Amino acid sequence: MFPAPFDYHRPDTLDEALSLLGQYGGDARVLAGGQSLIPAMRFRLARPAVLVDINALGDLAYLRETDGVLAIGALARDAALESSSLIESSYPLLFDTGAVIADPVVRQTGTVVGSLCHNDPSGDWGVTALACRAQIVVRGKGGTRTVPIDDFLVDSFTTAVGQGEMAIEVRFPSPKPRTSGAYQKIERKVGDFATSCAAAQVTLGDDGTVAEIGIAIGAAGPTAVRVAGAESALRGSKPSKDAIRAAADAARALADPVADTRGSVEFKKDMAGVLVSRALLAAFERLGVGGLK
Ligand SMILES: Cc1cc2nc3c(=O)[nH]c(=O)nc-3n(C[C@H](O)[C@H](O)[C@H](O)COP(=O)(O)OP(=O)(O)OC[C@H]3O[C@@H](n4cnc5c(N)ncnc54)[C@H](O)[C@@H]3O)c2cc1C
Repeated sequence: MFPAPFDYHRPDTLDEALSLLGQYGGDARVLAGGQSLIPAMRFRLARPAVLVDINALGDLAYLRETDGVLAIGALARDAALESSSLIESSYPLLFDTGAVIADPVVRQTGTVVGSLCHNDPSGDWGVTALACRAQIVVRGKGGTRTVPIDDFLVDSFTTAVGQGEMAIEVRFPSPKPRTSGAYQKIERKVGDFATSCAAAQVTLGDDGTVAEIGIAIGAAGPTAVRVAGAESALRGSKPSKDAIRAAADAARALADPVADTRGSVEFKKDMAGVLVSRALLAAFERLGVGGLK
């Protein structure tokens, strides 16, 4: 199918893009990698009257770490994370995630910020962003605001980006010493969306207890969701088999997936627990804590 008719703009500056978005309001959509928006338009699931293509805004294609924050600009492609030595060496959870999004062709074009803005219930970046307590910088005529990821992911395909606004960058806190993380995903075949997925990031204190923790699951409800019960099960305690089992149980209880061709509700709920447990085990192993299986 062909998309419904639309007007197309390709601004050369961010100010111009914001001005167009302000002018057209709810009729306009940002076009980033187009990996989700173009298929949706072709199936006429999305019918924006105006597209504001941001692909000429090369200044937004950055990936930079400053003052304890990794900032990923709105035009940074998934593939940029895969080939970044900084991400590979210092952000294991992001590196894991970047490697399992779709396939290499999609990753050359799709953007991290675009994926967060699309907010597919089975998308991967929302899960990892929750585990890392990321923040998204949103800009519009009214100014710039920084939105915690927990408030950004509002509902399926709905985020805190308002009419006339666009997301400029996503910010991930740089991991503190003794921090690691891992991403786990099961998919029917390489390149598919998740049947179930989970992210964990852990910081150990000097005494070996869990000082900070982030755990989230995906394909388990309308949006990616933080497993607060699993975080509580581990925070302040020494890593243990019992604590990991409690975290997995909390994920199973929280998961609220839909049955589809990828699996039944029961299977997906169980997988949410299994994958949280695997993500935690991998994160602890990366920190040199073994013997937890
Ligand atoms: C075959 C295939 C397999 C895929 N598999 C996976 C997978 O396994 N896991 C996964 O997570 N994703 C998967 N995807 C989705 C892919 O990662 C998309 O690239 C991503 O979801 C959207 O990024 P994009 O840059 O292409 O955004 P676009 O398609 O350009 O935009 C998506 C939506 O976000 C909005 N948007 C984009 N950027 C901004 C911005 N800066 N500010 C405000 N709004 C914005 C757009 O207006 C649109 O509504 C798959 C896609 C395909 C085609």
